[in-house]
Amino acid sequence: MELRLERLTKKYQNTAAVDNVSCSLKNGVYGLLGVNGSGKTTLMRMLCTLLKPTDGSICLEGRDIFEMDGEYRRLLGYLPQDFGYYPDFTVRDYLMYIASIKGLRPTVAKKRVNLMLERVGLTEAANKKMKSLSGGMKRRAGIAQALLNDPQILILDEPTVGLDPSERIRFRNLISELSENRLVLLSTHIVSDIEYIADEIFLMKEGRFVQSGSVEELTSAMPWQVWSLQVARADVNAYQKSYQIANVKTVQGGARLRILSAKRPEDSAVPETATLEDVFLYYFGERSGMDDDKI
Ligand code: ADP
Repeated sequence: MELRLERLTKKYQNTAAVDNVSCSLKNGVYGLLGVNGSGKTTLMRMLCTLLKPTDGSICLEGRDIFEMDGEYRRLLGYLPQDFGYYPDFTVRDYLMYIASIKGLRPTVAKKRVNLMLERVGLTEAANKKMKSLSGGMKRRAGIAQALLNDPQILILDEPTVGLDPSERIRFRNLISELSENRLVLLSTHIVSDIEYIADEIFLMKEGRFVQSGSVEELTSAMPWQVWSLQVARADVNAYQKSYQIANVKTVQGGARLRILSAKRPEDSAVPETATLEDVFLYYFGERSGMDDDKI
């Protein structure tokens, strides 16, 4: 199965929320990584046929998804950023309700709902009201509703917002499980949410893919080097003004800086292996007043 985006563009007035994006998606986990406002939701809403592109196309196996219409949507599961639910519904009633909207027959729906409750670990909470669930449980209920029709394509918009660290880990494991024989696309602005589970990551900035690839590809393609350098405590501010600093750690006698720079900042600086966090900082960090040539 191949979902192909070709020069996909969505303009609002004169600004492009999604600008000339092309890529090919197959089974596996894809991460859309970018700060707020970079165009992730707009791109996802087009992939769900909720928004029409201004230009370009999205094709599944060579067929335009907007022309496929219901045939395409039957293959699709979507978890929007703010998914609507009825607070006084129990988890089971909520899922049965969504199943009926999706056109599942009641007997099929009952089986699917039980299966999905099991899948996302909510069987024991099935009779709890939606409003009484923790953030993580609500998200899992949201994923369960997106999975009711056993979709081939699963699109999750910022699914980890509001989750605590243990819920995040549980969520990552669930996504990895779900990606078998499926295309999963999830958006986030948190590097650690996709670092370990995404086969391919698209770094999205101002509507464009500025870089894409596996974690290894992205880290090895970063134009700058990462350096570790110990400095006096009093000099930290000066370094922060002149360099892109990924981390400051207080150590005996000063601070150890993690510096992103094209050139060795000092003779004593030691080269380090870049992480996805460093790549994110390289593309999205503030670089005002810095001149690439001088660093
Ligand atoms: P993200 O999901 O990465 O936070 P969005 O896709 O929500 O980004 O937004 C991308 C850009 O498009 C933002 O600058 C946003 O203000 C703009 N935008 C999104 N929806 C609309 C709209 N309906 N009308 C005008 N501008 C919009």
